Amino acid sequence: MTPEERRARHERLVAADHRHLWHPFTQMQDWLREEPIVVDAAEGAWLVDTLGNRYLDGVSSLWCNVHGHRVPEIDGAVAEQLGKVAHTTLLGLASTASIEFAEELMRVAPPGLTRVFFSDSGSTAAEIALKIAYQHFQLRGQPERKDFVAVRGGYHGDTIGSVSVGGIDLFHRIFKPLLFPVHHAPQPYCYRCPIGKAWPSCEMACAGEVEKVFAAHPGRIAALVVEPLVQGADGMIVQPAGWLRRMRELCDAHGALLVCDEVATGFGRTGTMFAVEQEGVRPDVLTLAKGITGGYLPLAATLTTEAIFESFLGSFESRRTFFHGHTYTGNPLACAAATASLRLFRDRRIVEGLPAKAALLARELSPLAAHPRVGEIRQRGLMVGIELVRDRATKAEYPYEVRAGHQVVLEARRRGAILRPLGNVVVLMPPLAMTDEELGALARIARESIEAATARLA
Ligand code: PLP
Repeated sequence: MTPEERRARHERLVAADHRHLWHPFTQMQDWLREEPIVVDAAEGAWLVDTLGNRYLDGVSSLWCNVHGHRVPEIDGAVAEQLGKVAHTTLLGLASTASIEFAEELMRVAPPGLTRVFFSDSGSTAAEIALKIAYQHFQLRGQPERKDFVAVRGGYHGDTIGSVSVGGIDLFHRIFKPLLFPVHHAPQPYCYRCPIGKAWPSCEMACAGEVEKVFAAHPGRIAALVVEPLVQGADGMIVQPAGWLRRMRELCDAHGALLVCDEVATGFGRTGTMFAVEQEGVRPDVLTLAKGITGGYLPLAATLTTEAIFESFLGSFESRRTFFHGHTYTGNPLACAAATASLRLFRDRRIVEGLPAKAALLARELSPLAAHPRVGEIRQRGLMVGIELVRDRATKAEYPYEVRAGHQVVLEARRRGAILRPLGNVVVLMPPLAMTDEELGALARIARESIEAATARLA
């Protein structure tokens, strides 16, 4: 293709995008005025656009890519599965690919979880978790145990149930009349403590606040829903050590289930295969998506203990069945990709290599720690949030309309990296397979972009 043909193709695609597409989490009025990057291909940690420009995939294509793009082992597994069957249902039938993946998944799953219910996104995995927790207590003769406790700043997806347990005002406020009531507890956000305390002298008073919610509703709480170790979508809010363990203890003390949403943190993201491992916590229900297929295809999983599964057993007439399912539940192509991804985790000893990569990234970002417009750098494994502030001393925030994070993203594009902010937080979520050299380049671009963007902002 000549450069002119390339440009003409690009322009035709942009015009069609502007005519027909409605992009997620995007103010389309702005979008329609801008020329987007149109991704055409990818290789390893790099995305290639229709004009032939290459960009580091700094947010793993929305937090899901693990081993890079176009990985021969995953490509091969999907192609092989295509040669057998692309889709067949799990309603009334079993399938080779879903069985093989379930076996692989249980080899790495946190202890105590034995059953998997497949779906196709993090949101549906959350819906399933909520409905299973609710029905479990209905079936166990505790019908009054039907309330949920969640944490402010939590994000579990965009369907109505997952929004109900979500706690991000900007996204969720408008839908409030559509949601079911949930008890929300203060979030463990030490940099901006919602209860005005300071870590560690607070002795984790925020956990005490969760306890107060339980105490105020004795015998009524079905489950506590949390993102373990890091609340991702609210700006990479890293929990103080021991908070998750306290949540487990609270659930045990009050007879409630602990639902851990590892859609973002699962599959190596925080430095261990699953975040719960770092606090020795055994959830009753675990939700997974994003990295489950290595970032290849939509697949999600809701894992439960055998005890929960057994609540649903009974005669056909008993109607104890879990009446829930999706057309593409356990899609064989997605399961084949997921199995290949888990084998790569094992063969390439991915988890073992993570501490060194996380340390390298921390080192490369450390010059930012003293930057007058950086309030805090939060990191767990290869999950990083850099909170920009207007004034470091007072922690004053940039106003919403300034789009401080977005300004950094635009600078990063000019320098060859794709980032996506969360408000004033610049997120780095590189694929776990990113090389040391690429991690260094990504951190350098982040540093320079923050420098350049904040220098222009008042
Ligand atoms: N749960 C968590 C913790 C997430 O971070 C996300 C997405 O960012 C979701 C659930 C929703 O996943 P999905 O976008 O696949 O519906």
